[in-house]
Amino acid sequence: MSVKGDVTLLANGATAVAAESRKESAQENEGTKVVEREMPVNTRINAGQLLTDHFRCPDDFLDLTVSGDLSGESGYFRFGADALCYGQLSSATPSAKVTGPLHDALKNVRANGSSLHLPFDPVQIVNNLRHERYQCNHALGRTANKSSGLVRKLYYLVRPLLSVALRKHLQRLYLGDWEQIPFPNWPVDTTVESIHEQLLGLSMESRNCAKVPFIWFWPKGALSCTSVTHDVESVAGWDACADLMDLDDSFGIKSAFQVIPEERYPVPQARLDSIKDRGFELNVHDLNHDGNLMTDPDEFLRRAPEINRHGKKFGALGFRSAVLYRNIDWYGALDFSYDMSVPNVAHLDPQRGGCCTVFPFFNGNMIELPVTMAQDYSLFHILNDYSIDLWKQQIFLIRKKHGLMQMIVHPDYIIGPAERRVYVELLGYLSELREQGETWIALPAEIAAWWRLRHNLKLVNGDGSWHIQGEGREAARIAYASIVDGQLTYQIASEL
Ligand SMILES: [Zn+2]
Repeated sequence: MSVKGDVTLLANGATAVAAESRKESAQENEGTKVVEREMPVNTRINAGQLLTDHFRCPDDFLDLTVSGDLSGESGYFRFGADALCYGQLSSATPSAKVTGPLHDALKNVRANGSSLHLPFDPVQIVNNLRHERYQCNHALGRTANKSSGLVRKLYYLVRPLLSVALRKHLQRLYLGDWEQIPFPNWPVDTTVESIHEQLLGLSMESRNCAKVPFIWFWPKGALSCTSVTHDVESVAGWDACADLMDLDDSFGIKSAFQVIPEERYPVPQARLDSIKDRGFELNVHDLNHDGNLMTDPDEFLRRAPEINRHGKKFGALGFRSAVLYRNIDWYGALDFSYDMSVPNVAHLDPQRGGCCTVFPFFNGNMIELPVTMAQDYSLFHILNDYSIDLWKQQIFLIRKKHGLMQMIVHPDYIIGPAERRVYVELLGYLSELREQGETWIALPAEIAAWWRLRHNLKLVNGDGSWHIQGEGREAARIAYASIVDGQLTYQIASEL
């Protein structure tokens, strides 16, 4: 099967076929290392599996059924107060606009014995959020993706001729309406988490079940997860990497460097090795960072094998596109274990949208690690903010959900003393959180490996108690979800 076939199939949602063909094409490529993939080939899941995949709870705790006819148009509706959904609905006609009164599908959920009947397909709804398909019309009150088309091409064409001040001015103008964007929620969107929690809570109520065991989200019972990443944009940034590693090391933090393989700066092997030899991570950042990787599928497919080739040469397992331009439905052509190109809420990025989750998720066989914190560039140059207040606010909101705090800080943009001071303050704050036992600071490769490992663990009942089975189970912890005062709450068991 041709690679082009992959992408067409992926865009239609048939990830299973695409994953299969991706393996074939990887094997054809003799002498290259095939990235290990442990996900089953068939990735189509049902409603109940959506929850068991996220919580890793036993299958028989959940019985979700989609009721009614879902043949109508997709649109916006609510699922309780905290979740705005986009997709098909059987209980009413969903709205074409995100603003204004929306139907609340929660009222139409019915319990039938132990089974829960839903007026929508939660797999479709969650995928529409994670894959940013909710912005496919103009209902968000603005053009969803200004970055496409002529404006972006023109901007990139004249960009080298513009002064930094003029560039910043144009970017501010371009992003000027960001505060009016009604969805996703700024500064952190946790709609996917709200849907998961709501469905688990309703299932528990319908079964009269006081608590549900599941495999805790992070290893050794860590309450949240943090990853610090650095995209190297220019020669100046590339030259600042050694110093930045010293700085990160001084806080006991290892970070990931995303390096542009072509055109921006020379990438001699010794320089790449110097990052990995120090225990930092090396990933591929786009191909040449010209802003055109995602302009159309043909261009992406032309460049993907080159990117894969650089990935092998770098010994890199992770990828990030330039400027977070993305279409993860095309990723069947990429040969990486994980991607880090999807923001949680992209109000300050040229390509708007966001995946509305603070947890990793599978995209076919690849793991998506969402970028959940504002980028340094946006903070300094769009918001003109030289404090860590926004970052602290985002950290607070993500920690409330026990999610992943992933940040991008560019070596290029923290050379100046004011910017560097802000970054040092952030490092101090993160290491404080770690000391208090509030977060696990890890490399993206470690996080992706953990997410795969956890996906393959199983919770089984034997001798009247719950046990975790599977390779690597020593790091996993059992947790219990229960409803306290109408709220879903978690409790981590102290021992395995
Ligand atoms: Zn970049």
